[in-house]
Amino acid sequence: MRRPRNVDSWYEYEKVKSFSDSEVFLKNIDISGQIKVALIYPNDYKVASSSLSFHKVFEKLNESKKISCERFFFDKKFKKNYSIDSLTPLDQFNIWSFSVNFELDLLNVISLLKTYKIPLGKRNRKSYHPLILFGGALTYFSNSITDQIADFVYHGDLSDEFVKIIEDLNKKRSKDELIVDLKDFFRSKGINYSCSLSSSVYLTDKTIFNNRFLIEISRGCVRKCKFCTVGFNFGKFRFIRPELIIDKMNSVKEYTRKIGLISATVTDYPYLDRIIDYALDNDFDLSFSSLRLDSLTKNILKILKKSDQNQFTIAPEGGSQKIRNIYSKGISHEQILRALNMGRELNFDSIKLYFIYGSPEEEKTDLDGIVDIGNICLNLGYKKVILSINPLIPKPDTPFENYEMEDVKALRNKERYLKNELKRIGVKASFESIKSSIIQYILTSMKDKQAEKFLETAENVENISGNLLEIFKNNSEKGAG
Ligand code: SF4
Repeated sequence: MRRPRNVDSWYEYEKVKSFSDSEVFLKNIDISGQIKVALIYPNDYKVASSSLSFHKVFEKLNESKKISCERFFFDKKFKKNYSIDSLTPLDQFNIWSFSVNFELDLLNVISLLKTYKIPLGKRNRKSYHPLILFGGALTYFSNSITDQIADFVYHGDLSDEFVKIIEDLNKKRSKDELIVDLKDFFRSKGINYSCSLSSSVYLTDKTIFNNRFLIEISRGCVRKCKFCTVGFNFGKFRFIRPELIIDKMNSVKEYTRKIGLISATVTDYPYLDRIIDYALDNDFDLSFSSLRLDSLTKNILKILKKSDQNQFTIAPEGGSQKIRNIYSKGISHEQILRALNMGRELNFDSIKLYFIYGSPEEEKTDLDGIVDIGNICLNLGYKKVILSINPLIPKPDTPFENYEMEDVKALRNKERYLKNELKRIGVKASFESIKSSIIQYILTSMKDKQAEKFLETAENVENISGNLLEIFKNNSEKGAG
């Protein structure tokens, strides 16, 4: 490619190149196909490269001899957007496939489309605009904004049939014909839930996992916590055989012995003990994406200790039994105590706990329950207790979809109360920003008409977040009226 000619482009080029140079590929990826697909992760490189779906789509599309899929990440300062793989600018690609996994990433998609003056609503785009595809975790449940931006939303796990439709694209076929094919395919097949799970295609020290090889061991969840989309929308629980995990671990041992097991709930994987024993006997270091506290075992804590991790994380979610029951969390106070005691027996002196506040039924005593659990941790001898406390964001296609998110004033009062009480007993807490939670809520809960209007406004205003907060305020006032 031609080298950049101005200072800004050099800055971008060098930044992308430094990420590219950090990568060690674990398999050969051929990007010489004729059909060029830009795989765009609408967040920074660190988040993009930590996402196994980003790895999987990149690997799978490039298995086709006809397709050349290159990776891009989002940086709000970028103007050229060079690919990580060949440093080719984004505007040289006709298919833009976004991997959308978090609500707030939609704002980055909007920002990127605006940089290229591409109309946000699919109905306003012309045949010369790139084909915009969406896939990723956010597409497993309904979302009016994704439906209105993307020419085609791919719901579910990536399938061979989808790759074949892209392969069939040649210069004689128009973008509109391709969209019709994609829609027909989807109508006939429905959502695809596959058993082919993902693992890292490359290692890099530029993510929080720092050269750790990630293996997705299961998808879906056997539980049905009412606030969570996974149990209701990600298909039935499926997992890979332990032999395959062990083979994957051995296949990368010349590169790294650090393995990360990824799943909605790693502790529900039926052969977890076998993998842990293998890791203990063969000098692998293991980390887990999530642990259910009711299934926590000494074996799990032992391998965390051996892997130099001095902190473990559990998610009671509710401070009181009443709230945990409302969330259908399926966790009792005794199980929380058992997990906390087990951690101390294994000499952990640091613990992180996740909680959700802001449900309509919540009372002061329920908030006090969160503080009490913090206190119990201190009394058991944990030196570092960190609470991560997040507002309840009612999600579509879950039992909470008709809940209204609690208003800003009530959330602020509860946040202030918890902050003061936790400070008083000496427990650290990090609170997810109320504003950003509300923005996430609006981005997932808007219905078609409102989404259409929002996208029209977003074409012309700079402060998109401000616009979303305004929508929330108006909706709350209407609700109150
Ligand atoms: S919160 Fe965790 S355990 Fe509950 S449904 Fe979601 S992924 Fe499963």
